[in-house]
Amino acid sequence: MTSTPAEKLEALRAFANDMRDVTAPELSPLLPTYVLPADGDGSRPLAVTGGLLAFEYRHELETAGLWSGWGFLAVVDLDGVDDYLTGTAVLTHEWTHFLEHLAFTSALIAAAPPETLLQDAPPAPEATAEALGARATMPPWTGHDRRYLRLLAHVVYRLQAAGWPGDVDDCFPSRHYLLSRASRYAEHLGTEPAYLADLPICRILETRCPSDYTAFAAADMKHAIRRWHLRDPLSPPVPAERNVVPCQRF
Ligand SMILES: [Zn+2]
Repeated sequence: MTSTPAEKLEALRAFANDMRDVTAPELSPLLPTYVLPADGDGSRPLAVTGGLLAFEYRHELETAGLWSGWGFLAVVDLDGVDDYLTGTAVLTHEWTHFLEHLAFTSALIAAAPPETLLQDAPPAPEATAEALGARATMPPWTGHDRRYLRLLAHVVYRLQAAGWPGDVDDCFPSRHYLLSRASRYAEHLGTEPAYLADLPICRILETRCPSDYTAFAAADMKHAIRRWHLRDPLSPPVPAERNVVPCQRF
């Protein structure tokens, strides 16, 4: 990748647009993509995104003359982006999070109309504390589980078909999540990414997952729980257990 921060930013912004057009053409007329530089000191993740992050950064985007409505935003530490492949793989990783958020939100709205959701009372403080406590004991792959890895395989398949030189392992530093390589997960999907290549990407997770993939993912996560002495999130809490896990890079 070209060396100055401005050139890196320009290349990443162009890729973000292309990535949206290639993997989710149905979203292209509606959904802007943004990339902003992080004013990081290297201690933060390489990149972050979120379903509503564009709203949080609206002022910065307007100041930069970029704002054209809610959309995908990745905030990237450009110092950690050494070359084109690293930068575009990081964006692919973040884009998959965003798509999973969109898929989840669509399913939620389909199950409960927005007016119902808006009427819901905020959670009680005890419930929130309980949720935060549960989160603290979640395994390191939380947010990057089998749904995420399945969607990532589809996103990467579509990018590769358009000529992108990376692969799923470039987008997923599996050792940080204590899981097998993303390419092993992708192998267990078989021909699914090709078979569903024309399905809107946000609908992938609505389809039945190959049982081979589900079985592999369950076995891999069970193995990691045993090997790293993690607490199984599906089992009752066990007090006074301390887990040491590597920090997550992105
Ligand atoms: Zn992530």
